[in-house]
Amino acid sequence: MAKTIAVVNQKGGVGKTTTTVNLAASLGAQGCRILMVDIDPQGNATSGFGIDKRSLEQSSYDVLINGVAAKDVIIKSNYKNVDVLPANMDLAGAELELVELPGREKRLKTALSPLYDSYDFMLLDCPPSLGLITLNALCASDTFLVPIQCEYYALEGLSQLMSTVRTVKRMYNPYIELEGVVLTMYDGRLNLTQQVVEEVKKYFPKKVFASVIPRNVRLSEAPSFGQPVLYYDNSSKGSQAYVNLAKEFIRNNKKR
Ligand code: ATP
Ligand code: MG
Repeated sequence: MAKTIAVVNQKGGVGKTTTTVNLAASLGAQGCRILMVDIDPQGNATSGFGIDKRSLEQSSYDVLINGVAAKDVIIKSNYKNVDVLPANMDLAGAELELVELPGREKRLKTALSPLYDSYDFMLLDCPPSLGLITLNALCASDTFLVPIQCEYYALEGLSQLMSTVRTVKRMYNPYIELEGVVLTMYDGRLNLTQQVVEEVKKYFPKKVFASVIPRNVRLSEAPSFGQPVLYYDNSSKGSQAYVNLAKEFIRNNKKR
Protein backbone atom coordinates (compact mmCIF):
# COMPACT_ATOMS: atom_id res chain seq x y z
CA MET A 1 0.00 0.00 0.00
CA ALA A 2 1.41 3.35 -1.06
CA LYS A 3 2.69 5.83 1.47
CA THR A 4 1.83 9.41 0.52
CA ILE A 5 4.22 12.27 1.25
CA ALA A 6 3.45 15.98 0.77
CA VAL A 7 6.48 18.13 0.00
CA VAL A 8 5.51 21.45 1.61
CA ASN A 9 6.82 24.86 2.57
CA GLN A 10 4.72 27.90 1.78
CA LYS A 11 7.89 29.88 1.23
CA GLY A 12 8.74 30.11 -2.48
CA GLY A 13 11.93 28.86 -4.08
CA VAL A 14 13.24 26.73 -1.22
CA GLY A 15 13.71 23.57 -3.29
CA LYS A 16 10.34 21.78 -3.03
CA THR A 17 10.14 20.91 -6.71
CA THR A 18 13.83 20.08 -7.03
CA THR A 19 13.48 17.75 -4.05
CA THR A 20 10.24 16.15 -5.28
CA VAL A 21 11.58 15.50 -8.79
CA ASN A 22 14.98 14.20 -7.74
CA LEU A 23 13.82 12.17 -4.77
CA ALA A 24 11.17 10.60 -7.03
CA ALA A 25 13.74 9.75 -9.71
CA SER A 26 16.25 8.38 -7.19
CA LEU A 27 13.65 6.27 -5.39
CA GLY A 28 12.45 4.97 -8.75
CA ALA A 29 15.99 4.07 -9.76
CA GLN A 30 16.33 2.12 -6.50
CA GLY A 31 13.31 0.00 -7.35
CA CYS A 32 10.42 1.81 -5.65
CA ARG A 33 7.26 2.36 -7.68
CA ILE A 34 6.61 6.11 -7.60
CA LEU A 35 3.73 8.38 -8.46
CA MET A 36 4.78 12.02 -8.57
CA VAL A 37 1.77 14.26 -8.17
CA ASP A 38 2.13 17.82 -9.41
CA ILE A 39 -0.37 20.11 -7.71
CA ASP A 40 1.37 23.40 -8.40
CA PRO A 41 -0.03 25.51 -11.27
CA GLN A 42 3.58 26.37 -12.18
CA GLY A 43 3.88 22.75 -13.38
CA ASN A 44 7.62 22.70 -12.75
CA ALA A 45 7.68 19.12 -11.50
CA THR A 46 5.81 18.10 -14.67
CA SER A 47 8.27 19.80 -17.03
CA GLY A 48 11.19 18.69 -14.84
CA PHE A 49 10.22 15.14 -15.79
CA GLY A 50 10.29 16.01 -19.48
CA ILE A 51 6.52 16.30 -19.90
CA ASP A 52 5.30 19.21 -22.00
CA LYS A 53 2.84 21.00 -19.71
CA ARG A 54 1.31 23.05 -22.53
CA SER A 55 0.10 20.03 -24.49
CA LEU A 56 -1.64 18.18 -21.66
CA GLU A 57 -5.14 16.99 -22.51
CA GLN A 58 -5.98 16.62 -18.85
CA SER A 59 -4.19 17.44 -15.66
CA SER A 60 -4.45 17.34 -11.89
CA TYR A 61 -6.97 20.18 -12.30
CA ASP A 62 -9.46 17.79 -13.93
CA VAL A 63 -8.86 15.25 -11.19
CA LEU A 64 -9.41 17.74 -8.36
CA ILE A 65 -12.25 19.76 -9.83
CA ASN A 66 -14.03 17.62 -12.45
CA GLY A 67 -13.69 14.27 -10.71
CA VAL A 68 -11.79 12.68 -13.63
CA ALA A 69 -10.14 9.39 -12.56
CA ALA A 70 -6.43 9.93 -11.79
CA LYS A 71 -5.50 6.75 -13.69
CA ASP A 72 -6.81 8.36 -16.90
CA VAL A 73 -4.59 11.40 -16.46
CA ILE A 74 -1.36 9.80 -15.22
CA ILE A 75 1.54 9.74 -17.67
CA LYS A 76 4.34 7.19 -17.60
CA SER A 77 7.61 9.14 -17.53
CA ASN A 78 10.73 8.23 -19.49
CA TYR A 79 12.49 7.48 -16.21
CA LYS A 80 12.56 4.22 -14.32
CA ASN A 81 9.52 3.47 -12.12
CA VAL A 82 8.10 6.99 -12.08
CA ASP A 83 4.59 7.93 -13.20
CA VAL A 84 3.44 11.54 -13.18
CA LEU A 85 0.09 13.13 -12.48
CA PRO A 86 0.87 16.37 -14.33
CA ALA A 87 -0.19 19.98 -13.71
CA ASN A 88 -0.26 23.23 -15.64
CA MET A 89 -1.73 26.73 -15.37
CA ASP A 90 -5.28 25.32 -15.48
CA LEU A 91 -4.78 24.58 -11.82
CA ALA A 92 -4.47 28.28 -10.99
CA GLY A 93 -8.27 28.56 -10.87
CA ALA A 94 -8.69 25.54 -8.63
CA GLU A 95 -7.88 27.38 -5.42
CA LEU A 96 -11.10 29.41 -5.79
CA GLU A 97 -13.22 26.73 -7.45
CA LEU A 98 -12.53 24.27 -4.64
CA VAL A 99 -14.21 26.58 -2.13
CA GLU A 100 -17.63 25.76 -3.59
CA LEU A 101 -17.16 22.03 -4.02
CA PRO A 102 -18.40 19.27 -1.70
CA GLY A 103 -15.67 17.63 0.40
CA ARG A 104 -13.33 20.36 -0.73
CA GLU A 105 -10.35 19.41 1.43
CA LYS A 106 -10.59 15.65 0.79
CA ARG A 107 -10.81 15.62 -3.00
CA LEU A 108 -7.18 14.71 -3.63
CA LYS A 109 -7.31 11.90 -1.09
CA THR A 110 -10.45 10.50 -2.73
CA ALA A 111 -8.76 10.72 -6.14
CA LEU A 112 -5.52 9.00 -5.08
CA SER A 113 -6.95 6.21 -2.95
CA PRO A 114 -7.83 3.85 -5.87
CA LEU A 115 -4.10 3.89 -6.76
CA TYR A 116 -2.66 2.78 -3.41
CA ASP A 117 -1.91 -0.74 -4.64
CA SER A 118 -0.05 0.45 -7.73
CA TYR A 119 2.72 2.41 -6.01
CA ASP A 120 5.13 2.27 -3.07
CA PHE A 121 5.31 6.04 -2.62
CA MET A 122 3.34 9.02 -3.85
CA LEU A 123 5.21 12.34 -3.70
CA LEU A 124 3.13 15.52 -3.87
CA ASP A 125 4.79 18.73 -5.07
CA CYS A 126 2.85 21.54 -3.39
CA PRO A 127 2.58 25.20 -4.42
CA PRO A 128 4.14 27.92 -2.25
CA SER A 129 1.02 28.68 -0.24
CA LEU A 130 -1.10 27.25 2.55
CA GLY A 131 -4.35 27.44 0.56
CA LEU A 132 -6.86 24.74 -0.30
CA ILE A 133 -4.54 22.87 -2.69
CA THR A 134 -1.90 22.43 0.00
CA LEU A 135 -4.66 21.57 2.47
CA ASN A 136 -5.78 18.81 0.07
CA ALA A 137 -2.20 17.53 -0.03
CA LEU A 138 -1.93 17.44 3.77
CA CYS A 139 -5.29 15.68 4.08
CA ALA A 140 -4.18 13.07 1.53
CA SER A 141 -0.77 12.37 3.09
CA ASP A 142 0.69 10.04 5.67
CA THR A 143 3.63 12.36 6.18
CA PHE A 144 4.98 15.72 5.06
CA LEU A 145 8.51 16.56 4.07
CA VAL A 146 9.82 20.11 4.47
CA PRO A 147 12.69 21.43 2.34
CA ILE A 148 14.43 24.34 4.04
CA GLN A 149 16.86 26.59 2.25
CA CYS A 150 20.00 27.32 4.24
CA GLU A 151 19.76 31.12 4.32
CA TYR A 152 18.66 34.02 6.50
CA TYR A 153 15.05 33.72 7.64
CA ALA A 154 15.10 29.98 6.90
CA LEU A 155 12.71 29.37 9.79
CA GLU A 156 10.40 32.19 8.87
CA GLY A 157 6.89 30.94 8.19
CA LEU A 158 7.55 27.51 9.66
CA SER A 159 5.45 28.19 12.75
CA GLN A 160 2.56 29.00 10.40
CA LEU A 161 3.15 25.74 8.52
CA MET A 162 3.26 23.74 11.74
CA SER A 163 0.10 25.41 12.98
CA THR A 164 -1.66 24.52 9.70
CA VAL A 165 -0.53 20.92 10.19
CA ARG A 166 -1.94 20.93 13.75
CA THR A 167 -5.28 22.11 12.39
CA VAL A 168 -5.22 19.37 9.73
CA LYS A 169 -4.40 16.82 12.44
CA ARG A 170 -7.26 17.98 14.62
CA MET A 171 -9.90 18.30 11.93
CA TYR A 172 -9.15 15.95 9.03
CA ASN A 173 -6.10 13.72 9.25
CA PRO A 174 -5.11 12.72 12.82
CA TYR A 175 -2.30 10.42 11.65
CA ILE A 176 -0.17 12.83 9.62
CA GLU A 177 3.43 13.02 10.80
CA LEU A 178 6.60 14.86 9.85
CA GLU A 179 8.66 12.71 7.47
CA GLY A 180 11.65 14.96 7.88
CA VAL A 181 13.35 18.21 7.02
CA VAL A 182 15.72 18.44 4.05
CA LEU A 183 18.36 21.16 4.09
CA THR A 184 18.75 22.52 0.56
CA MET A 185 21.21 24.80 -1.24
CA TYR A 186 23.75 24.07 1.47
CA ASP A 187 27.08 25.85 1.27
CA GLY A 188 29.42 24.58 3.98
CA ARG A 189 31.89 27.42 3.38
CA LEU A 190 29.52 29.97 4.85
CA ASN A 191 29.32 30.54 8.61
CA LEU A 192 25.72 31.51 8.10
CA THR A 193 24.93 28.05 6.79
CA GLN A 194 26.22 26.44 9.98
CA GLN A 195 24.09 28.76 12.10
CA VAL A 196 21.00 27.97 10.07
CA VAL A 197 21.65 24.23 10.33
CA GLU A 198 21.95 24.49 14.11
CA GLU A 199 18.74 26.49 14.35
CA VAL A 200 16.80 24.08 12.16
CA LYS A 201 18.06 21.10 14.18
CA LYS A 202 16.97 22.81 17.38
CA TYR A 203 13.53 23.48 15.93
CA PHE A 204 13.10 19.92 14.57
CA PRO A 205 15.07 17.62 16.91
CA LYS A 206 15.95 14.25 15.29
CA LYS A 207 13.95 15.11 12.19
CA VAL A 208 16.59 16.65 9.93
CA PHE A 209 17.88 14.29 7.22
CA ALA A 210 21.62 13.68 7.49
CA SER A 211 21.76 13.83 3.69
CA VAL A 212 22.11 17.53 2.98
CA ILE A 213 21.61 18.94 -0.54
CA PRO A 214 24.46 21.22 -1.63
CA ARG A 215 24.07 24.20 -3.89
CA ASN A 216 24.94 22.65 -7.24
CA VAL A 217 24.58 24.14 -10.69
CA ARG A 218 23.67 20.78 -12.26
CA LEU A 219 20.52 20.74 -10.14
CA SER A 220 19.42 24.04 -11.61
CA GLU A 221 20.36 23.08 -15.18
CA ALA A 222 18.68 19.68 -15.31
CA PRO A 223 15.04 20.96 -15.43
CA SER A 224 15.65 22.87 -18.65
CA PHE A 225 16.52 19.52 -20.24
CA GLY A 226 13.44 17.87 -18.77
CA GLN A 227 15.64 15.48 -16.84
CA PRO A 228 16.03 14.60 -13.18
CA VAL A 229 19.67 15.24 -12.24
CA LEU A 230 20.36 11.51 -11.92
CA TYR A 231 19.87 11.18 -15.68
CA TYR A 232 21.35 14.56 -16.58
CA ASP A 233 24.66 14.15 -14.73
CA ASN A 234 24.80 11.25 -12.32
CA SER A 235 28.33 12.06 -11.19
CA SER A 236 27.40 15.54 -9.97
CA LYS A 237 27.33 16.43 -6.27
CA GLY A 238 23.64 17.25 -6.60
CA SER A 239 22.82 13.84 -8.01
CA GLN A 240 24.83 12.04 -5.34
CA ALA A 241 23.07 14.05 -2.64
CA TYR A 242 19.61 13.03 -3.83
CA VAL A 243 20.68 9.39 -4.19
CA ASN A 244 21.85 9.53 -0.57
CA LEU A 245 18.62 11.21 0.49
CA ALA A 246 16.63 8.44 -1.23
CA LYS A 247 18.67 5.77 0.57
CA GLU A 248 18.15 7.47 3.93
CA PHE A 249 14.44 7.83 3.16
CA ILE A 250 14.17 4.10 2.36
CA ARG A 251 16.06 3.18 5.55
CA ASN A 252 13.73 5.36 7.63
CA ASN A 253 10.73 3.72 6.07
CA LYS A 254 11.99 0.19 6.64
CA LYS A 255 12.09 0.91 10.38
CA ARG A 256 8.37 1.56 10.44
P1 ATP B 1 8.26 27.32 -5.69
O1 ATP B 1 7.92 27.75 -4.30
O2 ATP B 1 8.22 28.45 -6.69
O3 ATP B 1 7.47 26.12 -6.14
P2 ATP B 1 10.36 25.52 -5.01
O4 ATP B 1 10.31 25.56 -3.52
O5 ATP B 1 9.71 24.38 -5.68
O6 ATP B 1 9.80 26.88 -5.63
P3 ATP B 1 12.62 24.98 -6.67
O7 ATP B 1 11.85 25.33 -7.89
O8 ATP B 1 12.91 23.57 -6.44
O9 ATP B 1 11.90 25.61 -5.40
O10 ATP B 1 13.99 25.77 -6.62
C1 ATP B 1 14.05 27.19 -6.82
C2 ATP B 1 15.22 27.50 -7.74
O11 ATP B 1 16.43 27.13 -7.14
C3 ATP B 1 15.16 26.75 -9.06
O12 ATP B 1 15.67 27.55 -10.07
C4 ATP B 1 16.07 25.55 -8.83
O13 ATP B 1 16.64 25.07 -10.03
C5 ATP B 1 17.11 26.14 -7.91
N1 ATP B 1 17.65 25.14 -6.98
C6 ATP B 1 16.95 24.35 -6.12
N2 ATP B 1 17.77 23.60 -5.38
C7 ATP B 1 19.04 23.90 -5.78
C8 ATP B 1 20.33 23.46 -5.38
N3 ATP B 1 20.51 22.55 -4.42
N4 ATP B 1 21.41 24.01 -6.01
C9 ATP B 1 21.25 24.94 -6.98
N5 ATP B 1 20.06 25.39 -7.39
C10 ATP B 1 18.95 24.90 -6.80
MG1 MG C 1 7.97 24.35 -6.86
